[in-house]
Amino acid sequence: MEKYIPYGHQYIDDEDIEEVIKALKEEWITTGPNAERFEKEMCNYLGTKYAVAVNSGTSALDIAVKSLGLPKGSEIITTPFTFAATSNSILFNNLIPVFVDIEKESRNINPEEIRKKITKKTRAILYVDYAGNPCKIKEIKEIAERHNLYLIEDACHALGSEYFGKKIGNFADMTIFSFHPVKTITTGEGGIVVTNNEHYYPKLKLHRSHGINTGAKERAEKNIGYKYDITSLDRNYRITDFQCALGTSQLKKLDSFIEKRRKLFERYKQLLSSLDILELPLAERNSNPAWHLYTVLLKESISRDRFYNYMRDNKIGVNVHYIPIYNFTLYRSYFNITPKDFPITEEVYKKIITLPLYPALTYEEQDRVVKLITNYVEK
Ligand SMILES: *Cc1c(COP(=O)(O)O)cnc(C)c1O
Repeated sequence: MEKYIPYGHQYIDDEDIEEVIKALKEEWITTGPNAERFEKEMCNYLGTKYAVAVNSGTSALDIAVKSLGLPKGSEIITTPFTFAATSNSILFNNLIPVFVDIEKESRNINPEEIRKKITKKTRAILYVDYAGNPCKIKEIKEIAERHNLYLIEDACHALGSEYFGKKIGNFADMTIFSFHPVKTITTGEGGIVVTNNEHYYPKLKLHRSHGINTGAKERAEKNIGYKYDITSLDRNYRITDFQCALGTSQLKKLDSFIEKRRKLFERYKQLLSSLDILELPLAERNSNPAWHLYTVLLKESISRDRFYNYMRDNKIGVNVHYIPIYNFTLYRSYFNITPKDFPITEEVYKKIITLPLYPALTYEEQDRVVKLITNYVEK
């Protein structure tokens, strides 16, 4: 029996497991020293000043948008070609997501299209570095400066990616990463907001934990007794210390994970470039992506869904990233959106497929994927 090959998978070794066990024996097992350490290590790795770790990337997006403190009904420009959590974070905060079309090669938001959608109500741009490939951040920043807009970067795919030689995390007002098992490093579930702006840091901490102005650990350490205040309506988005211990341990391996991802990326390029049925991914100029996903576009002559079924029948867990968000019933019930207004998103959605890419994928397994694709084309 041939082994099933997923599109993405975590890599956890004995050292990671040891660290989790150690953390479980500590005094604080949630929002304690291991959480603080993970936040500090993330800042060290990225070169950022502040980090607030939470229980998912979705929660991280939610508190980042909330920390902007925008009036109800403000518009945030974003991409429809992402996981729904990106634009859900706008809806959670009673704000309006305004979708703009993407670029075909990168599947990233198109800065030219952003310009066209700016209104008097626009307050921010929430952009996604699709597959870990940075957006045209320079252009996006120019637009933001001209129109006085905040920037939030959903970098759930882009941990370790670089743009003009600097790590993603240092460009927007706030940047979000996810530690879901398919992402570049994992804490099981988890996420983080990083920022270089001291203004957002206390707000992010407040929104992580019930809007309470001091944490339990802080109250214990500073001996301030039972008194605290609640200044905003918030949920409990805290992450446990044993998850953060896993995160710190995973972070030590991040560069080697990325190196393997880049090697597999180059290898796909070598092995697939002679096939005339595929358009292969390209890195954005001036960037060095960490490559979370390997996505290709199939040429017109091939049905994506038939190809998807063929690969799945042969135990390759190909996937489709993503169904455009405006197609979901939830979004259709809120907004009157015409897919025709997003010609590139529609075209890419029709042709795109995600091939397996993760650090534990062996070259033999990658060869099996390539061989199946080649066989399919030759038939
Ligand atoms: C994974 C992901 C999220 C959500 O992260 P979770 O940790 O699963 O909540 C948000 N945006 C993008 C682009 C993602 O890939």
